[in-house]
Amino acid sequence: MTRIDVRDLKGKIKDNAIQVTLDVIGKKHDLMLAYQNTGFGKKRFFVCPYCSKNVQYLYITGNSLKCRVCSGVKYTGIQNNTKGGYDEIAYRMKKYAAAHDIQFDFPFNYLDFVLDSRMHREKFRNYVIVLQALENMRFQGIICKTTYSAKTIRLVTSGKHPLLQKCSLMELKEYFYDWETGQQIIIPSVKSILK
Ligand SMILES: [Zn+2]
Repeated sequence: MTRIDVRDLKGKIKDNAIQVTLDVIGKKHDLMLAYQNTGFGKKRFFVCPYCSKNVQYLYITGNSLKCRVCSGVKYTGIQNNTKGGYDEIAYRMKKYAAAHDIQFDFPFNYLDFVLDSRMHREKFRNYVIVLQALENMRFQGIICKTTYSAKTIRLVTSGKHPLLQKCSLMELKEYFYDWETGQQIIIPSVKSILK
């Protein structure tokens, strides 16, 4: 799979640019850039448009640019990442979806499947519920740095987590849940928007 290297931007854009527009196979991509201080100065990264992770490479998949995990490129292990963090959840989502013949882009959204004839089958609907639940966890992992125990992840991927029965797909998409305790997390700003 073709990939682009953030180091190739060196000298072509400003040293502190926070955004770059790249023309890749006839399509313009607005990409965010991030910087980290290292012993040798500042290191530049792409921000993956799908999971917001800082990465050196973006892979061209179809007509989008994604990091290695989001593009589903063969993953060589999760030992370098935060255990139970969003990248592990993303990896599990890709594996789970592939095992059940489901294709999706991050962020997972059940609304993309409402016209899928397989939604008539309870089994398929349950797969979609599991993926929406994992997306709920992944999103919290990204913005709140939440990590999950192996047990909790297993409860969700096996379809046995109590929240999977308790919550509708819409709720799993719109609200945050504490997957360790099963409680809904009320965020004050979200609450006031809903009123
Ligand atoms: Zn990504």
